[in-house]
Amino acid sequence: MEKVKVLIIGSGPAGYTAAIYAARAGLTPVLYTGGQPGGQLTITGEVENYPGYPKGIDGPQMMMDLRAQAERFGTQVRDGVVTKVNFSGYPLKAVVDGTHDLEAEAVVIATGASAKYLGLPSEQKFANKGVSACAVCDGFFYRGMDVAVIGAGDSAAEEATYLTKLCPKVYLVVRRDEMRASKIMQQRVRSNPKIEILWNSVPEEVLGTDEVSGMRVVNTKTGERKDIPIKGFFVAIGHQPNTEIFKGQIDLDETGYIKVMPGSTRTNVEGVFAVGDAADRVYRQAVTAAGTGCMGALDAERFLAAREHEPAHV
Ligand code: NAP
Repeated sequence: MEKVKVLIIGSGPAGYTAAIYAARAGLTPVLYTGGQPGGQLTITGEVENYPGYPKGIDGPQMMMDLRAQAERFGTQVRDGVVTKVNFSGYPLKAVVDGTHDLEAEAVVIATGASAKYLGLPSEQKFANKGVSACAVCDGFFYRGMDVAVIGAGDSAAEEATYLTKLCPKVYLVVRRDEMRASKIMQQRVRSNPKIEILWNSVPEEVLGTDEVSGMRVVNTKTGERKDIPIKGFFVAIGHQPNTEIFKGQIDLDETGYIKVMPGSTRTNVEGVFAVGDAADRVYRQAVTAAGTGCMGALDAERFLAAREHEPAHV
């Protein structure tokens, strides 16, 4: 059984920022990268909205830099997936890759969320070449071009509205004859002359050779198929927080996001902190993830300091 002071689970901006702060506080954190080292930014192209990079920065490069910065101050970054946790006692327990047992005095969860995709082979083929799951991240690359947003929730409504600031025409592909989005968001979409809603419609294929040139949409009521020219295909059918292993260990909301105390990163379990997209269904930006990563490290540091003075605290 290996004993560590601070265990950080996940290697997106939240995890690495928590690591930078925890390492600089002398807590020698151990960070496990998870199955997708670097997280969601490694599957995006250029990041242009992270403050401090006036010329933008390549997503994977940014994650390598964050890793190097975390390591510079003494973080042990390890490849591995935390496959199980047991937070029922103290110290907190975790298993890595099903075999390696760990005990930690504090745990910062930064496992992120994954965008849901439709599951079309053509969608995968054009990942980062016209298919995106984040209009705020990638919309700018499609300025002046026609695009489509798939989905009918608040995210889809928000992304479609956002894209109209950049694109002359936005198709909103809705699979039913109504939208799930809140009334106000729907109103915004319906009253926007740049948005055309395709009701009862499901994309069947993303079209193109090297990059996206269109989509084939089928009307589920009439069976009619239509090829529509677009350059960007934005999937906004929801995100799934990567919190499966924490079920039954900490409080999650009904969709699996980790519940934290308002204004902090504390979960309902003492010594366990949640940061980044795993606990954020609203903002989901690299910079907000990094911000809460910092908060998580500071919360963990204070928790450990309080325990040192008052070991019976937990
Ligand atoms: P969501 O509310 O779960 O909506 C997902 C949408 O995608 C639904 O309309 C669903 O259609 C559609 N969909 C799912 N699978 C599909 C498929 N295979 N093909 C076509 N369409 C599919 O997800 P979300 O919009 O990401 O929102 C998540 C949460 O965040 C919500 O609680 C939302 O209110 C909140 N949010 C809030 C804001 C805000 O307040 N500004 C912004 C974004 C998100 P059906 O309706 O037919 O099921």
